[in-house]
Amino acid sequence: MVLNIDTGVWKIDSGYRELAKMAETENTGIRIGSNGPIYDQLMEDKLISQVSDEAKLEEFNLLILETSEKCNLRCRYCFESATNCGENMSCETAVKAFEKFISLEKCSTSVCVEFNGGEALLNYNMISKAVPQILHIAEKAGKKVGFTVQTNGTLLTAEMIAFFKAYKFSVGLSLDGVGEFNDNRIYADGRSTFDEVVNNIQLLKESGIRYSTISVIHRKGQFKSVKDLLAFTGCNQFRANLISAIGRGKEVLADTISMEEIAKEYVAFCKQMLQDRQYYEANAMYYFLSLLLFHPFMCYKEPCGAGMNQLFVVPNGNIYLCQESCFIDKGCIGNVNMQNIDIEKNIQEDAWFQTMRNRQTTLVEECRNCPWKKFCCSCPCRVYSETGGVSEKSMLCEFYKHVYSEFIWMIHNDTEAVMNFLQSSF
Ligand code: SF4
Ligand code: SF4
Ligand code: SF4
Repeated sequence: MVLNIDTGVWKIDSGYRELAKMAETENTGIRIGSNGPIYDQLMEDKLISQVSDEAKLEEFNLLILETSEKCNLRCRYCFESATNCGENMSCETAVKAFEKFISLEKCSTSVCVEFNGGEALLNYNMISKAVPQILHIAEKAGKKVGFTVQTNGTLLTAEMIAFFKAYKFSVGLSLDGVGEFNDNRIYADGRSTFDEVVNNIQLLKESGIRYSTISVIHRKGQFKSVKDLLAFTGCNQFRANLISAIGRGKEVLADTISMEEIAKEYVAFCKQMLQDRQYYEANAMYYFLSLLLFHPFMCYKEPCGAGMNQLFVVPNGNIYLCQESCFIDKGCIGNVNMQNIDIEKNIQEDAWFQTMRNRQTTLVEECRNCPWKKFCCSCPCRVYSETGGVSEKSMLCEFYKHVYSEFIWMIHNDTEAVMNFLQSSF
């Protein structure tokens, strides 16, 4: 295997053609950048078309609405430090945010609206009122819109599930594992949330709705527990997110194992996942696609998609470049209630937007000679919250190094299993 660390080009034996075809399917939302390691060959083979140009990578396609700042839980690692204080978003603000979003010059024809929090379902009434209005506005504007809701999974009711099913939502619930591994996800009185969330997963499963789980990885041995959880609940789509040093996460992170140890467990888990073919971890798909097709998704490219692919709106109508930038109180580029606001101009003139765009791994001292610098996906907000600046390497460095060095060999040694995994993930 040969890897050019300055271009990210590396040689792969076989299999890339099928992978490229899959990555271009319409419903994945993944497109190929024009500087990928295999781009020229794919063009020559006529396996990719003009759809895969850079302009498409810069379209807005995700609007995240912070539906409620409040939460009924007190997770020990909560990066929002959520409590029962805070505001709910009004239906009027949600609808205005959507109108402004689809009026952006660079808005895609197909967009996703995500309701999250705090705990989004504390403000379910707003969701149920806003969604039909948003659909009506989208139809008039000739836009396709899909919906997703992220919830801690404790407040779901049969009525909500019926509504989400009717409007084709995808539902994401949070659960970290079984037993002690879920101990950080607690109510204000310290009780575990496990039983309620598992019961609600069963209701979702019976309804036939599209759902997945998110696990925050913070402890040694957790991937085994996540696997047990998937078997126990029958859920087969999930995402493993590494704990972040934002908000209450700072204290819990200090007690965790090293990123290299977590990476080793993650890689072992992924190798088993390729063999078992029964469950799918979403970030693995992006690590594979980053190696194969170069930065296919907003958090896996440089500069990232904050203020280019997504916007985040909080209950009072303030607009941020990304949810992560809101938690470090940067990148507020206006309010949806402002008359004649020029969002795209404000983004370009925003100091934090420019800082994020200028953060490149090739300019970071410790990254300059790293073999993985063309693939490494360090979130600038996360780096800022960890180091107080953006010119340092990420605290996840050891994780990325191990994951990319192993994933590249997984592609090389077991192309068919990787192809099967990617096909099933889409
Ligand atoms: S459910 Fe989410 S928002 Fe609520 S306390 Fe836990 S991590 Fe924070
Ligand atoms: S700021 Fe971080 S979370 Fe937001 S789009 Fe960029 S990489 Fe992703
Ligand atoms: S953060 Fe680490 S893995 Fe990423 S480019 Fe820098 S040195 Fe390499």
